[in-house]
Amino acid sequence: MSHDPAAAPSSLYLGRTISLLTKHEKQRVIAPVLETSLSCEVNTVSAFDTDQLGTFTREIAREGTQLEVARKKARIGMRIAGLPLGLGSEGSFGPDPMLGLIPWNVEFVLFLDDELGLEIVGVAQGKSNFAALLISHPDELQDFKDRVGFPTHQLIVRPDSEDDTRILKGISTESELAEALQWAFSLSLAGRVHVETDLRAHTNPTRMAVIKSAAEDLATKLATPCPACSTPGYTVTTRSGGLRCADCGGPTDEPCQEIHTCAKCAFTETIDLSKGKMADPGKCKRCNP
Ligand SMILES: [Zn+2]
Ligand SMILES: [Zn+2]
Repeated sequence: MSHDPAAAPSSLYLGRTISLLTKHEKQRVIAPVLETSLSCEVNTVSAFDTDQLGTFTREIAREGTQLEVARKKARIGMRIAGLPLGLGSEGSFGPDPMLGLIPWNVEFVLFLDDELGLEIVGVAQGKSNFAALLISHPDELQDFKDRVGFPTHQLIVRPDSEDDTRILKGISTESELAEALQWAFSLSLAGRVHVETDLRAHTNPTRMAVIKSAAEDLATKLATPCPACSTPGYTVTTRSGGLRCADCGGPTDEPCQEIHTCAKCAFTETIDLSKGKMADPGKCKRCNP
C-alpha cells in the first residue's frame, strides 16, 4: 500500500505499520500515542541491542549526537522489519539549560518516512532524577533513595568508582539492593560503593513520561499538514519573544512571532502572535524586575 500525501492528515498513515526499535520497552508509551493519533500500527523491533549505540553507564560511549543516534535507531529498526516507515528514540541527561542546577532530560522521538523522504522529530524535556553517590556504609543511602524515588525508580551499584566495569543494574527492591551492596562492598578495595540512578526507560518512570511527551509532540506534528503540499510535519521552527508589556509598553520575553516551516517543501509562514495581545506586567523585567 503506498500513500498519497494529499490525503487527509489523519488518514495518511491509516493502517500502515511503523517500526520502533527499542530494547527498553519504549513502545509502552510511544505506540499508544501514535496508534491513537494516526490509526497506524507500531511494530516493536527488539532484535538489536541498542546499548551497542551507547549506554548512560559509560561502558559504551555514544557515537554521534542525540539526533544522529535516534536516526540510526530508526534506520536499524526499518531494516530489520523491512519497512519504509520507522521510529527511533534517544535521550540525553545533563544540568537544566536555564540555571544549570536541576538534573535535566531531553528526549527525541524521530520518525522516518522513506516514501515521502521525510524526517520529523518529536521533542520533550523535563526534570530528571539523575543522581549518584559514593558511600562507605549502606546507611548513607537513606536520603538518596527517597530523593530519587526508589524503588519505583531503579538503581545501579558498583564497587569503588563510577567507572568500575563490575556493575549491577535494574535494582528494584530493598532486598536486591541489600544483596547488591553486600556484593559491591565485598569487591571494593577502598571500602566504597558507587550508587546511581538507572536511566534506562523501563527502569525510570520519570524518563518514560518525558518520552511519552516527545511522542505526543511527534503525533501533533504528524497530524499537521503543510498548507502548500499537504505533507505532514508542518510545524513551528522558530518562536521569538518581544510581546509588548500591558503596563509600560516595553518588549518582554513573551512570544510575539512564530515561524512555521514545512518538513518537505520550501513553504513557510510567519504568524504574528501580538495582534490585540499584550504581555502580563508580571512577566516584564521593567515592571517586575
Ligand atoms: Zn512593563
Ligand atoms: Zn510543504
